Amino acid sequence: MEMMGLKTGVIGAGIGGLTAALCLQRRGALVTVLEQAEDITEVGAGLQISPNGVAVLRALGLETALAQKAVRARAVELRDYAVGRLVTRVDLGHLPEEMRYYFVHRADLIDLLAEAVRRTGIRVRLLQKVEDVLPGEKPVARMANGAEFGAKLLLGADGLHSRARAALNGTVAPFFTRQVAWRATVPNTSGHPDVAQVHMGPHRHVVTYPLRGGALVNIVAVQERAAWAEEGWHIADDPANLRAVFADFGGIVPDLLKQVDTVRRWGLFRHPVAPVWHKANVAILGDAAHPTLPFMAQGAVMAMEDAWVLGDALAEAPDTESGLSGYQARREERVKRVVAAASKNAWKYHLSVPPVRALAHLGLRIGGAVAPKRMLSQFDWIYRHDVTAG
Ligand SMILES: Cc1cc2nc3c(=O)[nH]c(=O)nc-3n(C[C@H](O)[C@H](O)[C@H](O)COP(=O)(O)OP(=O)(O)OC[C@H]3O[C@@H](n4cnc5c(N)ncnc54)[C@H](O)[C@@H]3O)c2cc1C
Repeated sequence: MEMMGLKTGVIGAGIGGLTAALCLQRRGALVTVLEQAEDITEVGAGLQISPNGVAVLRALGLETALAQKAVRARAVELRDYAVGRLVTRVDLGHLPEEMRYYFVHRADLIDLLAEAVRRTGIRVRLLQKVEDVLPGEKPVARMANGAEFGAKLLLGADGLHSRARAALNGTVAPFFTRQVAWRATVPNTSGHPDVAQVHMGPHRHVVTYPLRGGALVNIVAVQERAAWAEEGWHIADDPANLRAVFADFGGIVPDLLKQVDTVRRWGLFRHPVAPVWHKANVAILGDAAHPTLPFMAQGAVMAMEDAWVLGDALAEAPDTESGLSGYQARREERVKRVVAAASKNAWKYHLSVPPVRALAHLGLRIGGAVAPKRMLSQFDWIYRHDVTAG
């Protein structure tokens, strides 16, 4: 369809929203981004961007900027929690050279997307909290301050508590997975290598990897527990609680946790994938459509893939409705598979019964020694999927 001048509103200036703005603008759409916050900022935390996400940034001309701010990942290591002994290693060096995997600070990724958005002349309107989305021939976003934004196409990239999702699907309460994640960054005083280390303990695990040219180490620490915890980016906790929960971890973990002076805690909830992704010129993407647990490190990457496919599907289709149907058809099965894989992953890291745990770790060790490439090829369906290729 002709996208030249198509008046489009994108709700949310997160990773999904900014990427969608760029993907639609390059097809000719006239894009405005509506963001509730007073500035486009991000919390101090890391993200793993696997090659399937890098493919989208490359197609948008942003890989060089990403590489300057990020650390190129060499491997993912699974380690036993007690003394940090290596269980197995997924060597990313087996990937073709052009398939790069990066660790990046969320703020750096948001900065480079926001800079690209500004460069291309996309309008960003801050302090625009959307309360309601009305699908229709001319869909409208209603702001909390009473203002309205009308467009030909409205995209909800407004995250976990999306108003656009609610307009298309109503609200369904998510359920608490009985897992919480603490997130922190600390100075890299121990020379953490350019790998993601998963330190696996009974009912808990800690993921560590370097950021910003190796100056920082990102920490995500997950615990299974019954006590409810709130979901959100900005809920601070006392670092002493984090240290207490992981006090029996060895290897590099105690030294890293000792340095934590600010930490945020996030209750992990399972949200169903939205059944309806589009209706009457309104569509949703990223966490708004399919929030995923962090155990495959694919939430932001899926949002970027969505954004690309959305632009592609609209450009190829005769009209908006068939473009949006094509978008959901091309994305739904893949994101459901990723969401399911992420949901299953935590229990693998958290095995607690000693014989089961020992056997599983032995299996991983043997698998890694006998068939190291096989350890990586099990993720081919995720990493080798390039939405920009067609
Ligand atoms: C512990 C943890 C670790 C993770 N690690 C990884 C990882 O390594 N790799 C990876 O790919 N993913 C990871 N993720 C997932 C990833 O963070 C999310 O999937 C991703 O941020 C989703 O992007 P989004 O743009 O859809 O939503 P968000 O990032 O939530 O952005 C939504 C935007 O919309 C704005 N907004 C919200 N409501 C409104 C409104 N009503 N009006 C206007 N604006 C609004 C918000 O202010 C925000 O700017 C992790 C998640 C967690 C919890």
